[in-house]
Amino acid sequence: MANVLESTLDQIENERNKLNTLFLHMTDGVLAFARDGSPIHSNPAAKVMLGLGDELPAFNEIFDLPFDSVLQLRRPDFEEMEMQKGSTYLELYFAPFSEEGQQGGVLVLIHDITQQRKAEELRKEFVANVSHELRTPLTNVKSYAETLLDSPDLPPELSEQFLNVILSEADRMGRIVQDLLTLSRFDYGRAELKKELFPFFDAVKNVYQAVGMDAKRRSQQLSLDMEGKIPDVLGDRSRVEQVIMNLVSNAIKYTPDGGTIALKVWADEENVFFSVTDNGIGIPEEDIPRLFERFYRVDKARSRESGGTGLGLAICRNIVEKCNGTISYQKSFGLGGASFTVTIPKL
Ligand code: ADP
Repeated sequence: MANVLESTLDQIENERNKLNTLFLHMTDGVLAFARDGSPIHSNPAAKVMLGLGDELPAFNEIFDLPFDSVLQLRRPDFEEMEMQKGSTYLELYFAPFSEEGQQGGVLVLIHDITQQRKAEELRKEFVANVSHELRTPLTNVKSYAETLLDSPDLPPELSEQFLNVILSEADRMGRIVQDLLTLSRFDYGRAELKKELFPFFDAVKNVYQAVGMDAKRRSQQLSLDMEGKIPDVLGDRSRVEQVIMNLVSNAIKYTPDGGTIALKVWADEENVFFSVTDNGIGIPEEDIPRLFERFYRVDKARSRESGGTGLGLAICRNIVEKCNGTISYQKSFGLGGASFTVTIPKL
């Protein structure tokens, strides 16, 4: 008899240890309250999520929900609610335990849904942005086409002007769709980057030569500097050139006529570096954290005017990260504008 009792007690102890370990390490929060609403137990996750100290408060001091209504639920019924704690979103489930006995109470399970919420918000914002970006050129195309149809007697120069607007708006929509497709290929892992050994400095020089005329047209001083010897890099040359082209085109776009744009290339043991520094309009402090987000623009009107899609920097970041590199923005103190630096590992 004594042996049976001992073994049963061992089993119970074992079960209790198992549960304690589970509660201690689970990422969801768990709280238990007695029938009078006083606290019985809380795991560390619950304390962190609700910002509670060692002294646990009673049920009604934490939750805006009548305790008795939960206690009267019959299993498997439960109450559900959402709560916001600072920037954290929590989903809470309330259920009674031991519905008949006097020993029962209420169990609360807490799930952190902040990431899910953020992803939902980003998705909504993204859909709103795409719709907005396409609606503006679409409205223009429609109204100019209608005007052309409704006014057969328009002077030919005006008709030509309207047709040119239609063409450039269609081009803009085409660029947006192309950039979105590029990003979506990255998102779905369908844009594998090539791995070939190529001379990094030559890639930068290519871009430098390609944009020379644009800078000249705006009387901008464009320079290219190399520090020391620049090694070859193992990566996708055309994608890397795309990043450099995007950054240099931005520098030209956002720097007034007569401004200065300096390109620099250097290397250390493991990485090659590229920077482009301009003395243009620069980027206000508050916009810096969102700079690489899709469709984020500091000056929407100026970006649209110069044919921007607001997706260039997001694409740059995707490509650079695929190359295991980094891209960052610094204020250009020397020149008083913007400066972007790209770091790419040699191998
Ligand atoms: P866009 O197509 O509008 O140029 P990007 O993603 O390339 O889009 O850039 C996002 C925004 O960052 C731009 O709209 C612009 O406001 C800002 N920006 C980028 N590069 C520069 C720069 N060199 N100087 C000032 N602002 C810049």
